[in-house]
Amino acid sequence: MKFPLRSTVQIGKYVAQQQRKGERYPLVLMLEPTLACNIACIGCGKIREYESNKAKLTVEETIDSAVQCPAPVVSICGGEPLVFKGIEEVVAAMLEMPKNIQLCTNALRLEQFLDVFQPDPRLTFVVHLDGMREIHDYVCDYPGLWDIAVDAIKKARAKGFRVSTNTTIFKETEVSDVIEMMRYLTDDIGIDGMLVAPGYQYSQIDPELTMTRDEHEVKFRAIRAEVKKKGYRWLATPIYQDFLTGERKLPCAPWGSITRNPYGWKGPCYLLTDGIFPTYEALLEGIEWENYGPGNDHRCEHCGIHSGFEPAAAFASVSSVRESARSMAWTLTG
Ligand code: SF4
Repeated sequence: MKFPLRSTVQIGKYVAQQQRKGERYPLVLMLEPTLACNIACIGCGKIREYESNKAKLTVEETIDSAVQCPAPVVSICGGEPLVFKGIEEVVAAMLEMPKNIQLCTNALRLEQFLDVFQPDPRLTFVVHLDGMREIHDYVCDYPGLWDIAVDAIKKARAKGFRVSTNTTIFKETEVSDVIEMMRYLTDDIGIDGMLVAPGYQYSQIDPELTMTRDEHEVKFRAIRAEVKKKGYRWLATPIYQDFLTGERKLPCAPWGSITRNPYGWKGPCYLLTDGIFPTYEALLEGIEWENYGPGNDHRCEHCGIHSGFEPAAAFASVSSVRESARSMAWTLTG
């Protein structure tokens, strides 16, 4: 199975309940308790979007975010969550709720937290890894980071933690490097899964780094073919894979991944900030959701990121029996 049974059942029940209501609903809360980070990746729009990265939520505000937003999955990102004081209280409170936590980290401080947290099927460390050693250290502008991250992943796996990785593909990324990373993580490390998505054309980062939709479709066709042949643990649902490879179009569903950061509830998505609201409910009502996505806003034309399109893929998968069966078969296999 791709995900623990308990989480799969919990999320399935939540989706069924929400579908009956017939309203927009979130699957994931993208929670940024702090925008501070201990590295400065060249492809990171966050450190360029916010001049001051000292802003942070309190522990209480962070926990309250998961109370306000009903999403069953909380992706704690940022910034680097492991520099946020009180992260262990946040994780404990959210596991109690119960939420399924994806704790995103560059892994610089991961090893020292392996005695702070306890392995739990609902807690997954998601380690940023943008390729094999040379590429990753270049993208993160931090020589030696790949070795630190891989060492921390191995130690976390040995202690029984769930660990997956998150990779962003840029224009210069060689597909062969990504495939070698997927092989290494699957066969040599035994990773629980790998998220791989195209870099977004942030206005804050060098446009030379990111790809057009045509460009990323070529790369993802090659990745998909190799994953199919070798069985690498790529955490992309079949519909999202169809979208990334250009075999189908998807609308964006930005309300499927709601973002809360130290400035408030921001919309329409993790990447674009056209409004900031004091509460989750105010965000839902305050954003004109239908104005976004490819064909609706020029900033969305080449976007293919998880936070907008994995929810769209999930909503599409519950829209027909055939797609539901395909999605379930993917979830149940290795
Ligand atoms: S397509 Fe969706 S996720 Fe991408 S930038 Fe536009 S609103 Fe955000």
